[in-house]
Amino acid sequence: MKEVILIKNGELALKGLNRRTFEDMLMANMRRRLADLGKFTFTPAQSTIVVEGPEDADLDEATDRLLKIFGIAGLSRAAAVEKDMDVILSVCPEYTAPLLLGARTFKVEAKRSDKKFPLNSPQICMAAGEKLLNEFPHLTVDVHNPDVIINIEVRDKCAFIHGNQLKGAGGMPSGSAGKAALLVSGGIDSPVAGWMMAKRGVELIAVHFASPPYTSERAEQKVHNLLKQVSKYSGRITLFVVPFTEIQELIKDNCPEDVFTVVMRRMMMRISQIIAQKEGCAALITGESVGQVASQTMQAIACTDAVADMPVFRPLIGMDKDEVIAISRKIETFEISIQPYEDCCTVFTPKHPKTRPTVSFIESAESCVDWEGPIKRAVEDTRIIPIKAF
Ligand code: ATP
Ligand code: MG
Repeated sequence: MKEVILIKNGELALKGLNRRTFEDMLMANMRRRLADLGKFTFTPAQSTIVVEGPEDADLDEATDRLLKIFGIAGLSRAAAVEKDMDVILSVCPEYTAPLLLGARTFKVEAKRSDKKFPLNSPQICMAAGEKLLNEFPHLTVDVHNPDVIINIEVRDKCAFIHGNQLKGAGGMPSGSAGKAALLVSGGIDSPVAGWMMAKRGVELIAVHFASPPYTSERAEQKVHNLLKQVSKYSGRITLFVVPFTEIQELIKDNCPEDVFTVVMRRMMMRISQIIAQKEGCAALITGESVGQVASQTMQAIACTDAVADMPVFRPLIGMDKDEVIAISRKIETFEISIQPYEDCCTVFTPKHPKTRPTVSFIESAESCVDWEGPIKRAVEDTRIIPIKAF
């Protein structure tokens, strides 16, 4: 007997002609994520992908990693055995014992895609059910609401025996919806926003603005740690760290204090957009939600949007903070985000920010500086840091 992992595609199954492309992307993503665990093979068969590792593969670690990959609806560890009912019946009790010993009721479901197999599906269920009742006398069969479902699938090359399916991360394979640039701070919101877009198949790059000496190396390290965690779901992320000190000081020295933050946001957008275009991204992503702070009123967002030539996705726009926190706990970015840090946003925070700025007012507030040079320098001096999950 060999143990394998069976992957059930998510929405993939619905995509008609594109299905093959999506499946190839999913397999490439899985291969990359498991690369350092040994040589795994991936074999598509109907709506399943069979993942097989080398003899000594760490399947627990592989399972953990696969559970975070978008595009997978569910997965099961399965015993792959010879297509012979005697073999199936001898392996089934032993392989499913850990599940069945903790259950009170069960049922067997069988699928036979090889129509030459001598038993049909109901006969396979009957035989396996009887065998399991003999081996585990504490069990009873419940076909409506069983604690455990034992699956037997007779396929082309072998048969698979497996128990309850684990729920996958859902969504679409990374890269299947193109690429976008996430504006990432060290806060709670932006990593969640990145995760949400990655779930829909968007490949991520990340842009972070740092203002040394006002912000420290530790603050930047925190961003690396956050992205490393997000990349367990999204796949690798290239981080662009933009030196922002010069621009922030120019804003502080030349613009009215009550619009500091909105002007700064517009600078972030302009620079992020230049990087995004160079990197082949079609959109920007931020962690803003309406009304959360002064710079996130509808009017302030309109001022920020006015400098963007590409769509700006704000997946948290209608969410409450506690809903965002619930996701950040689930994806394990929360504990990193709440570590104390300085963000460039908190460096020169106005005491009384304008909550209803207009685009024309902000444009005139900005006009006292020629921004071309400082923006060009910031882009040129940007550092590029590849972030990998493992
Ligand atoms: P977060 O928790 O993501 O920091 P927030 O609610 O604290 O969000 P702000 O600090 O106002 O809100 O930032 C709003 C958005 O602007 C962030 O979600 C992020 O997308 C972007 N942003 C803020 N600071 C930075 C930064 N230093 N570098 C890159 N993007 C940033
Ligand atoms: Mg913040």
